[in-house]
Amino acid sequence: AKPLVAIVGRPNVGKSTFFNRITGTKLAIIEDTPGVTRDRIYADAEWLGKEFTLIDTGGVDMNTDDVILKQMRIQAELAIDAARLILFFVDGKTGITSEDYEVAKMLRKSGKPVIVVVNKTDNKTDEQNIFDFYELGLGNVMGISSAQGLGIGDLLDEVAGEL
Ligand code: GDP
Ligand code: MG
Repeated sequence: AKPLVAIVGRPNVGKSTFFNRITGTKLAIIEDTPGVTRDRIYADAEWLGKEFTLIDTGGVDMNTDDVILKQMRIQAELAIDAARLILFFVDGKTGITSEDYEVAKMLRKSGKPVIVVVNKTDNKTDEQNIFDFYELGLGNVMGISSAQGLGIGDLLDEVAGEL
């Protein structure tokens, strides 16, 4: 089986936008409403001769009693368990949130290799925010813009290098 690369992070950081750009599918549902992607979606991908399966998870929403959001968190945990590598998506425009810290804690506990992906790094000004995310204590922080298609190649180089 191909190694699994899981995309995790709180809702609305751009996980599905990235997934769709990489896989060329429109399988993931993208909406402005946070947490709208509810299914774990798999797609095969290849970069630099390395084949892997990408998993787009629903958002990891930590502080809620809502049944659907609890379900999404369980899906994310399953994806993390199965993953060889985790792409932890955060939002470079909003900065670190308390939910990001919660997800970071969960990822540290998993012991899996993590790349912190600072999405929404759309321009030079946004690039200045990338380094703030070292505060999450997971190392390996990279800025991309899934919407503009910036930094994607460099990120995939890093992914291929980890597999
Ligand atoms: P998800 O909940 O993490 O899967 O996030 P989505 O992929 O559904 O995206 C949430 C919102 O962020 C949508 O309005 C996207 O258009 C927007 N978005 C995604 N990537 C970027 C990006 O690189 N830059 C900016 N400015 N917006 C983005
Ligand atoms: Mg989504």
